[in-house]
Amino acid sequence: EVSVEFSGRTRVLTISNQKGGVGKTTTTVNIAAAIAALGGRVLVVDLDPQGNASTALGIPHDADTPSIYDVLIDEFPIADVVQQSAESERLFCVPSTIHLAGAEIELVTQVAREQRLKTAIDDYLAREDTRLDFILIDCPPSLGLLTINAFTAAEEVFLPIQCEYYALEGLSQLLGNVRMIQKHLNPRLRLSTILLTMYDGRTKLSQQVAEEVRSHFPEEVLSTMIPRSVRISEAPSFGQTVIAYDGNSAGAIAYREAAVEIVRRDGRPTGGESRAENGE
Ligand code: ADP
Ligand code: MG
Repeated sequence: EVSVEFSGRTRVLTISNQKGGVGKTTTTVNIAAAIAALGGRVLVVDLDPQGNASTALGIPHDADTPSIYDVLIDEFPIADVVQQSAESERLFCVPSTIHLAGAEIELVTQVAREQRLKTAIDDYLAREDTRLDFILIDCPPSLGLLTINAFTAAEEVFLPIQCEYYALEGLSQLLGNVRMIQKHLNPRLRLSTILLTMYDGRTKLSQQVAEEVRSHFPEEVLSTMIPRSVRISEAPSFGQTVIAYDGNSAGAIAYREAAVEIVRRDGRPTGGESRAENGE
């Protein structure tokens, strides 16, 4: 068994990519479950009106369930809406419901509309009984106010990239958005982590995409890649992560290895002195 140490502070990562279907939600829930299996305490914030992360964690999220919508629009404390996953006593979720689809519009007229998630998370972390090593925010595939709330609340952007055609398409747009958020809303935000997903080593294309991404982002890309795997795609229909559904499958092993890398990186820039930030 590998052992990792947790830093004692809470790292907040937003799992973002403006493309849909690239593995954002799959990565969020499986990395969360893998970190919990390593002994960390993890909260998943489901910020996608589709509620796929809630489903995959086996969290009830019908229309009547108190959810992230109530947090963002009616200022419910996170403590009032958080649920524990049946999979682990260290794995928690703030679910999304169908109401969240309207929040994008409703937020427009709210005070501090970009900061509402950040404020809610700060309040939650300030509680004496909150102990979390990670908060992972699962974003919808668009740059609306929900995603802007995630970028404002997080320190780290975690970008899953699908090893397929057009993998790099839209990436410069995402990086531009990160810079815009850094400038106007959240100077601490940075792209810390890239994970190559749905990798198929038998195809030249997957290898080429992986090489290209690594050459552009040598520091950020994890050495672990997530293979294309049926077990990974089956797990959500059982309300489980692949870690619980089939812990010995190649997909579960890869997600656990990726989680170890993430925890060991400790959220600080790698690559030595030249990239050190804030005098740390
Ligand atoms: P996003 O949240 O970016 O829209 P999802 O995580 O929902 O993407 O993934 C899109 C689809 O691809 C889902 O059906 C999911 O089950 C499937 N999928 C994700 N990762 C893998 C993988 N490594 N192998 C096989 N299928 C995958
Ligand atoms: Mg998703």
